[in-house]
Amino acid sequence: MTATPETETAGLETLAPLAPRPAEGADAPLAPRPADDPTRTYEVRTYGCQMNVHDSERLSGMLEDAGYAAAPEGATADVIVFNTCAVRENADNRLYGTLGHVASLKRENPRMQIAVGGCLAQKDRDTITKRAPYVDVVFGTHNIGSLPALLDRARVAEESQVEILESLEVFPSTLPTKRESAFAAWVSISVGCNNTCTFCIVPSLRGKEKDRRPGEILAEIEALVADGVVEVTLLGQNVNSYGVEFGDRFAFGKLLRACGEIEGLERVRFTSPHPAAFSDDVIEAMAETPNVMPQLHMPLQSGSDRVLKAMRRSYRKERFLGIIDRVRAAMPDAAITTDIIVGFPGETEEDFLETMDVVRKARFSSAFTFQYSPRPGTPAAEMDEQLPKAVVQDRYDRLVALVNEIAWAENRALVGKRLELLVADTDAGRGGKKDGATHRLTGRARDNRLVHFRPGDAEIRPGDLVTVELTQAAPHHLVSDAVPIDVRRTRAGEAWRARHEAPTPVGVGLGMPSVGVPAPLPVADGPGCAC
Ligand code: SF4
Repeated sequence: MTATPETETAGLETLAPLAPRPAEGADAPLAPRPADDPTRTYEVRTYGCQMNVHDSERLSGMLEDAGYAAAPEGATADVIVFNTCAVRENADNRLYGTLGHVASLKRENPRMQIAVGGCLAQKDRDTITKRAPYVDVVFGTHNIGSLPALLDRARVAEESQVEILESLEVFPSTLPTKRESAFAAWVSISVGCNNTCTFCIVPSLRGKEKDRRPGEILAEIEALVADGVVEVTLLGQNVNSYGVEFGDRFAFGKLLRACGEIEGLERVRFTSPHPAAFSDDVIEAMAETPNVMPQLHMPLQSGSDRVLKAMRRSYRKERFLGIIDRVRAAMPDAAITTDIIVGFPGETEEDFLETMDVVRKARFSSAFTFQYSPRPGTPAAEMDEQLPKAVVQDRYDRLVALVNEIAWAENRALVGKRLELLVADTDAGRGGKKDGATHRLTGRARDNRLVHFRPGDAEIRPGDLVTVELTQAAPHHLVSDAVPIDVRRTRAGEAWRARHEAPTPVGVGLGMPSVGVPAPLPVADGPGCAC
């Protein structure tokens, strides 16, 4: 079972834009659409981590490739796709509640189809069409490329289609993608996980780690840069174990260095690395590659060696702190963020105090904190000594207070300093909206801190780079109310302008829910799968 993101204590933000080509291996549509059939519209609703956010970009891309158009904001789509997450508590009950509401819309619109994919679909399979028989398509994490064909098949056969594969057939990055941001993109380098953390359902739903070849990854990044992208976030369940499948344990560091050679690529981030696999060559690559940002999101989960062992996490407190020390020695300005689970079965007050000790020593700039709750199908759910809710809540409250206190102190220490910001995309759901009262815009610093700033008289577009002096600090963001010191108009700003000045195709909107990792991307509703 996985921990539940009860609260996001820090302002990390993940992004998720979107987009496209028919899936290799996917069946051809069964029936051509009649000439008089107006364009069918779609909406993708995304739950969970960055993986799902990026998968939703591919789902949108494939649907558009198949002739669907994004439903205008506020309109009911002809096809509603739920890209689900199995990590959150009561994820299934929440899904069925939402499906019940959508079913009533379907009764009014016989053209409507409902599809359910993602981790919960992979886990529950035919249960979904038993509990919600009006669902037209159920697909899993390994065959998202089949969605358009399954929708066609369900329409022609007039019955639900359930297709769940046990392993990946096509690496999903070969599928069409519709990016949500004009200038920031997710790039999958691996999928799946070879670990067996006892609280986590992910390995059984996403399978063993599969790595893309470096040449394919770099070609994708070069194509993205040619399209105006200036920031990429390398994505993997255990991003730094990249290479395990083809036997090169230095592959991740080499990949970071290779990203440094790509002209026009301004910012490289990655999520999430596993402490057990974090090697010094990666720290060196980060420090020596100018476009790799001074930022590290590395899940701690617990500061107690005893609890880490019960979680089957193969590093210990001292190793974790040692990595942080070496990262700070190599990159003194690096912002380090984490994920922490409170109340794992058998956690004692002493164990919890060990976690608090690591938080004090590590001085995280933010942390996603989770209250443990059992998830069916994971070893931890069967463990004795599940803790009372009141105990978990009390520890959680103390942890959040400490995390916030430290984050705020770290932010206050930055007041008066100058930071370079990549201006956020106001339409990509990344928190870049102009505040109506203060007229501030939002951007992300190189270390991924969120900064609200006044643009002054300058014309500043999302994607442009501004340098500001910080005037205020809050626990989860910084403020600059001074006139920007420098504004650099960028290719990314041009890409944003081109996208926004382009005629909007009928029915196409860019409205997708977003959540967060690094700045420019769309946001997911948590930091990931608690890796
Ligand atoms: S928590 Fe992360 S590392 Fe652990 S099993 Fe789950 S996906 Fe793998």
